[in-house]
Amino acid sequence: MATKFELSTFIKETIQTTGVDVRGSTPLDLLEKATFHHLSGSDPLFWLLPSDRWGMTIGTKVYVKHFAFWDITGSYQAQKKAAPKVWHELVHVAQCLDLGTIGFFADYLWEWILSGFDWRKIDLEEEAFEYEDRFRERM
Ligand SMILES: [Zn+2]
Repeated sequence: MATKFELSTFIKETIQTTGVDVRGSTPLDLLEKATFHHLSGSDPLFWLLPSDRWGMTIGTKVYVKHFAFWDITGSYQAQKKAAPKVWHELVHVAQCLDLGTIGFFADYLWEWILSGFDWRKIDLEEEAFEYEDRFRERM
């Protein structure tokens, strides 16, 4: 089972002040629409996510593994480290809102095949990493 949890005030405020509009969604829109879920080992999605992956976004639902959950809800230092990654997932939420969840996954899968199964080279990931890097620079 995946357990829903809330982002801390610190992470929400950091995203509102550091984030920028993505595909017509403001950081606040994305924070209001997205829900966060902690995956447990008994959830099938847990096994779909490669062990090095931080999270996975499906529509407006963001699923994260234990280590990401502990960072997001942990100490100030841990949350500071997690904020750009939370933002990365919110960029995927914006992409899903723009393309539709099915459209997002069709694009994602197609580009994953074209990239020779290197998920970091998928355009949707490159866009999210660009936003993530710029967010980190502004923090
Ligand atoms: Zn991503």
